[in-house]
Amino acid sequence: MPKIGFHAPIKGGVHNALIVAKDTGCDTVQLFSRNPRGWMAKPLTLEDVLLFRKIRKQTKLSPVLIHCNYLVNLAAADDLMLQKSRLSFREEVERALLLGVDYLVVHPGSARGACEVDGISLCAKSLKIACKGLKFNSLRILLENTAGQGDCIGHRFEHLDQIMRACPKIPLGVCLDTAHAFTAGYDIREEDGLNALIQRIQKTVGLKTIRAIHFNDSRAAYNSRVDRHWHIGEGHIGADALRRVAQHPKLKHAAFILETPYDDPRADIKNLAMLRSFVATD
Ligand SMILES: [Zn+2]
Ligand SMILES: [Zn+2]
Repeated sequence: MPKIGFHAPIKGGVHNALIVAKDTGCDTVQLFSRNPRGWMAKPLTLEDVLLFRKIRKQTKLSPVLIHCNYLVNLAAADDLMLQKSRLSFREEVERALLLGVDYLVVHPGSARGACEVDGISLCAKSLKIACKGLKFNSLRILLENTAGQGDCIGHRFEHLDQIMRACPKIPLGVCLDTAHAFTAGYDIREEDGLNALIQRIQKTVGLKTIRAIHFNDSRAAYNSRVDRHWHIGEGHIGADALRRVAQHPKLKHAAFILETPYDDPRADIKNLAMLRSFVATD
């Protein structure tokens, strides 16, 4: 049975995400290690790190994922933005290493003003520069497929494959976001469409690279290239299609993480219960 969990809040300290997740019945969890919408991050103190590691051991949550902040754009055409992004991403990797998590999820970026091909090679170059000299231990960076909003790269699995091939020395993997795939034009509403997506993954990045699945319904329509996560069973993908994803034998090795809107804690509990019922009836 796949491991399931959600993106948990870090109010009161990063360790609190672990406590919230465990108390809600998660097996796995994703968190931000800092404010996701600012360049400046408060450094992690030794106390923060030790407390996080201690609670991680107690809760036995696995895997633990950090989602990179939203400002980082590793494919930025603007030079100042690119330099800031590389520094900020390196800091994200260092924080992930300090906390000892399994995965750091990042979007490949937006090639505004440049073509996709240039954006893809710039993202690969940025990863190499940002990670230079770092010892990864067991940390792996997961590239997330995007909705293709604006000039975002990474909405095709071919893009992710090209980035991975260009960075053979960096431990990379893939995080499949169901809502992003759907609005980027992979129609997973029917069984055939889901199988077509899985075949596409097999032919590009490979199924083994899919370490995590962001399990979201979509408030935005099919092929709209708009990124709007929604509650499970209440969006354009729907409960039946999402059940097929959760029960697919070729995806069950991945950790399933909900990133549904955080309106109120009850919504998380309800979405988690739905995901639990999908995987339990497998
Ligand atoms: Zn994401
Ligand atoms: Zn996502």
